[in-house]
Amino acid sequence: MDKIHPLIANASTTRHILKSFNLRASKRLGQNFLIDKGVVDDIVYAADIVEGEQVLEIGPGIGTLTQGLLEAGACVTAVELDKKLPAVLAETLAGYENLKIIQSDILKVDILEIMGGQPFKVVANLPYYITSQIILTLLEKKLPITKLVTMVQREVAERMVATPESLSVAKESAKTYGALSVAVQFYTEPRIVFDVPPSAFLPSPEVTSSIIVCDIRKTPAVEVEDDKFFFRVVRGSFGQRRKTLINSLAGAGFTREVLSKAMEMSKIEPQRRAETLSLEDFATLSNNLKMFITK
Ligand code: SAM
Repeated sequence: MDKIHPLIANASTTRHILKSFNLRASKRLGQNFLIDKGVVDDIVYAADIVEGEQVLEIGPGIGTLTQGLLEAGACVTAVELDKKLPAVLAETLAGYENLKIIQSDILKVDILEIMGGQPFKVVANLPYYITSQIILTLLEKKLPITKLVTMVQREVAERMVATPESLSVAKESAKTYGALSVAVQFYTEPRIVFDVPPSAFLPSPEVTSSIIVCDIRKTPAVEVEDDKFFFRVVRGSFGQRRKTLINSLAGAGFTREVLSKAMEMSKIEPQRRAETLSLEDFATLSNNLKMFITK
């Protein structure tokens, strides 16, 4: 007979597990455990899990979301930094097959190797202190990820989907448009699917969270000759937000002479600000700039 597993996603079970292992949620590690089964179900639904597919979970905590993913039939590889948690997970998720727990830092582990080189989805309630860093690392490593479903702070989700002034219906969106928006939209098609109130977590964070689904594009949104150079230009452009594009990029180490020529070729006014440039504008500028630099 199948083993019936007690449900982790509620406040009393979460408190009980923490107490039994003599643990306290660590603020430093961004530990806000989910206690709402409805939210776990919604995340699993958003991830569109197919029986037997590979999922990388970042930060399983005490196993709340992991349980939802396993119940849906996923084969989960879960990477947890906290050295105390694998012993907890061995108990809370005892009896589940298709689960591999790796105690490591997601920013340091060889993800391709632990996922066996196979395509996989990433599903995670991310630790908020390094959300952007994790997302950028996953995208820039060009791993065989098909979908990224993450819980992040609402403000970060807004930055991920923000568009430049020229394309924004809401002026507010342009204010949050930056290097993270460009990177996420270059590699993926992101959409915010729903908001999650602080009451869905223990301990509850101070801010509202959002679930964001990023479908990985087969090819990047715009054609660039050298994506490392493209991101150097993007980061340099947003380096000093209040400055004009030419001043920001000059501050990032490009000469004014080369910048003026490349901007003229790209039909981009040097006095514009980075937040007005679309992905296409950044691609044109970086391709032209690269030409002058390698000449
Ligand atoms: N998945 C659980 C849930 O939904 O209840 C816990 C989510 S909690 C917001 C974030 C988890 O990420 C914590 O368990 C924390 O210890 C872990 N974590 C923090 N930094 C990490 C890192 N660099 N690599 C892997 N896990 C990390």
